[in-house]
Amino acid sequence: MSFIALVPGQMVAPGLLVTIGECVSRTIGLSVRVLEPILEPPEAYDPQRRQYSSTAILRLLIELRPQEAARLVAITEQDIFIPMLSFIFGQAQLDGRVALVSLARLRQEFYGLPPDEEVFRERACKETLHELGHTFGLTHCDDLGCTMSLATSIQQVDTKSATFCPACTILLAERLGRFGRSTARPSEEESP
Ligand SMILES: [Zn+2]
Ligand SMILES: [Zn+2]
Repeated sequence: MSFIALVPGQMVAPGLLVTIGECVSRTIGLSVRVLEPILEPPEAYDPQRRQYSSTAILRLLIELRPQEAARLVAITEQDIFIPMLSFIFGQAQLDGRVALVSLARLRQEFYGLPPDEEVFRERACKETLHELGHTFGLTHCDDLGCTMSLATSIQQVDTKSATFCPACTILLAERLGRFGRSTARPSEEESP
């Protein structure tokens, strides 16, 4: 049976992975396995930007993915970038197998606010679902409440929910069909 592999980077709290895993399996309907932590590849670090190249980490993840894992998502504490943007919350191979989510800008403390663990975990779930959605071929959604809506600021992350809108749910269910799971399919799916 196919599963989604979650891979923590260095210093990612195990409890957070449990929360993300529950969120993913509940929403996407595939089982989740947490794999051994990895070290973010030193060659992916850009000393000038003091960030990690998201693309370089994704390249490593492609090699790391166990064959039996339908998808692999790495969760990193490192701040990540792609050349055209000052930072990103995450990146995925569109219609691919691997994705990356950064926790670096998801905590209230990053914005000078008091810590809020619940808010932090919720944001991490949303971003993980969003990047996983991309790996299943979903693109950005105009519904601001949909987890597939584009977020370039933390306010946009907070505006959306940790669920897929009806249209994205149907698309995702079509993609998931090949894994033989029915959890995420609309109920009318049984009718001819
Ligand atoms: Zn996106
Ligand atoms: Zn949507």
